[in-house]
Amino acid sequence: MNYIGAHVSSSGGLEKTVLRAIQIKATAFSFFTKNQRQWFSPPLIQKKIDQFKAMCIKYSFQPQQILPHSSYLINLGHPIDELLRKSRKSFIDEMIRCSQLGLIFLNFHPGSHLNKITENACLLRVSDSINIALEKTQNVIAVIENTAGQGTNIGYCFEHLSEIIKNIDDKSRVGVCIDTCHLFASGYDLRTKKDCENTFEKFNSLIGLKYLKGIHLNDSKKKINSRVDRHESLGLGEIGTAAFTWIIKNENFSSIPIILETANPMIWEEEIDWLRSQKKL
Ligand SMILES: [Zn+2]
Ligand SMILES: [Zn+2]
Repeated sequence: MNYIGAHVSSSGGLEKTVLRAIQIKATAFSFFTKNQRQWFSPPLIQKKIDQFKAMCIKYSFQPQQILPHSSYLINLGHPIDELLRKSRKSFIDEMIRCSQLGLIFLNFHPGSHLNKITENACLLRVSDSINIALEKTQNVIAVIENTAGQGTNIGYCFEHLSEIIKNIDDKSRVGVCIDTCHLFASGYDLRTKKDCENTFEKFNSLIGLKYLKGIHLNDSKKKINSRVDRHESLGLGEIGTAAFTWIIKNENFSSIPIILETANPMIWEEEIDWLRSQKKL
C-alpha cells in the first residue's frame, strides 16, 4: 500500500484540504499551513484545528500520510541576521501549527546564500535554524527538500543535505523530502531504471534512506542539470515515466507520502490512478 496524493489548496479553510484529497482519490496530501506568500498568519483557532482533525479521522488519514509545506518566504540560511531571525520565527510558527493539527512533518526548502556568504556558511545557518526550531517545538520532524539549485539556493546535492543533517542535535526530528524534478534539474539522472538505482544508492550512502520522509513526484520541463525548477505532468517532461514506475514499485517508498506537484491539477486523479496501475505490474 502506497500513500499517493497531491499538493492541494487550503483556500477556504484547512479542513477543506482533506476533501480535496478525497476528490482525487488520494491516500496522501500536502498543503500550505498558512498563506505561503505571507510571513505570519493569525494563529489557528481551536474550532478549525478540531475540524481538521475530525476530517482526517473520518477519511482515515494518519499523520504519516500528510506532508505540509512551509512558506516560500522563509530562508533558514539567510545571510542577514535580522531576516534570518524573521525566517526562524516564521518557521517555528509553522512547526507549532503542524503540531497543533496533530501532524508530524513540516517540509521546507533549505535556503539561499544570496551571494553574501559561502555555501558552507549558509548550510551551517540552516542547521542552527533547525536546531533552534526543534528546541522550541515538539513532535514535528523538519523535512528538508532538495532543490533544483536555481539562483543561490543551497540543497541541490546530497552532500548539502547530509552536511545540514550532520549538525542537527536531535537527528530523530530531521528528515529529507526528495523532489524528482529538482533532483533531475540539479544533475541526478532518473531516466532509466539503472539511473534511478544509481541515484538512490548515492542518496543512501551519503544521507541514508531512513531519513527519507516523503517524495514529490514531478516530471521536469527542463533538461538534466539545467538548474531550473519547472514542474511537468508525469511522462510529459524530460524525465519520462520509467522513474515514476520504479519509485512506485520500490518497497523502500511504500510507507512515505508520495506527492504530486505536477503542472496540471485537472489530471491529478488520472496520474494517481496511473501510478497505482504501475504498482500492480
Ligand atoms: Zn517544495
Ligand atoms: Zn517539491
